[in-house]
Amino acid sequence: MKRLELFPISTRIVNNRLTIAGLDLASLADRDLTPLYVYDRETLDSAVVEYKSALASYYPGPATVTYAGKAFLCLALAQWTQLHNLIVDCTGEGEIAIASTGGVPRENVLVHGVNKSIIDLNSAIHHAGTIVVDNMVELSHLAGLFSIHSTRFPDIWLRLLPGVSVTTHHSHTQTGQHNSKFGMTRDELLTAAKFCKHHKLPLKGIHFHQGSNFRDPEPLLPAIELALDLAKEIGFSGNWHLSPGGGWGVAYHEDELPHPSIENYVRGIAESVIEGCQKRELVLPHLHLEPGRSLVARAGVAIYRVGAVKRRGNKVWVLIDGGMADNPRHAMYGARYACLAVTDVSGERSETISVAGPYCESGDVILEGLETSRLKEGDLIAVPVSGAYHLSMASNYNGARKPAVLWLENGKAKMIQRRETVTDLLTRDLGLLPFD
Ligand SMILES: *Cc1c(COP(=O)(O)O)cnc(C)c1O
Repeated sequence: MKRLELFPISTRIVNNRLTIAGLDLASLADRDLTPLYVYDRETLDSAVVEYKSALASYYPGPATVTYAGKAFLCLALAQWTQLHNLIVDCTGEGEIAIASTGGVPRENVLVHGVNKSIIDLNSAIHHAGTIVVDNMVELSHLAGLFSIHSTRFPDIWLRLLPGVSVTTHHSHTQTGQHNSKFGMTRDELLTAAKFCKHHKLPLKGIHFHQGSNFRDPEPLLPAIELALDLAKEIGFSGNWHLSPGGGWGVAYHEDELPHPSIENYVRGIAESVIEGCQKRELVLPHLHLEPGRSLVARAGVAIYRVGAVKRRGNKVWVLIDGGMADNPRHAMYGARYACLAVTDVSGERSETISVAGPYCESGDVILEGLETSRLKEGDLIAVPVSGAYHLSMASNYNGARKPAVLWLENGKAKMIQRRETVTDLLTRDLGLLPFD
């Protein structure tokens, strides 16, 4: 069944029931745990291995895989990144705290983000090996902080706005176009580089990011050319870093299969960096690839329980116990999803359904117009490719409690995040306390 390729690699159908890592999903969800997220360790590992072996095959210089933590970060995931010695890319104080608490050592923490606060910058100075600077305001703050912390200061990379966009499903997932809010233009970046030199700040690299969930590496090439031009002009020699990003895509729906090839992506980047450096007589940079989604998306599956099924004209609404509060991606950018029934995977009777959640928005929809086995009250459904940008974007809308997360490995489950409780919802509420 083609749809099964969207699921983690350890997924099997056993007696018409879905299993992952040898575990029966219905049994896991049965303890009143839905909506429930599960992550398959084997799928996580295999994505890292694909990146690392492609880098080893195609890039002769030093190379590192960085996990863009904003796709999904928690202590267990931070711990897992260190089993593979990944760098963890954090946006701001909150993610830095999760990574550090999860045991990511300073040299493996990289901090990026647009408009970092002084608190973010201070936290980066204490816990990160690298700061990717987005603009001159940040850089002048850093120059001030450098005079206090100069004995142990993170490397500085500058974020370039390449002015070249990649094709993504939605404009909200593009970041590299000429009028984007991210990074510095060519001229701004050169000014920033001079500023670093003047203040003796440890400028070590160039970073850019063009968009998320794209599947054609072609537009990366002119951006790499521009970054190499700037590297030459700045005069990098010896140990310098280049992070051309990023955001390699995954298939969310069977119409988008096969999953975009990681090998082709890495090869395209590696070849153009090698060629571009030769042309300019530049030393090969330490190459950093910065995937988020393509490391974790396929490893995650969301499991929901069906409540009512409503038939309205030509629509069959299957109403589930989660939705936009744990997965806002359909509401935010029209992302397409598929699902399978958990206990009657290939049912004798099928129908075309739309799946919606319990929240008070008509846009609280997970998927539309998908053929599945016929579902009824009490059935479970599994939504694949739920590992990235679901839980990290989850909200408490309508008082929703964030779901529990299970880690599945070799026939065993670990609970890596418990479900939020009503007490959690109330912990930061103070009532009408005086403010003085
Ligand atoms: C979001 C982001 C990534 C990862 O994007 P994905 O689509 O999750 O792979 C990488 N680098 C930067 C700077 C980002 O902001």
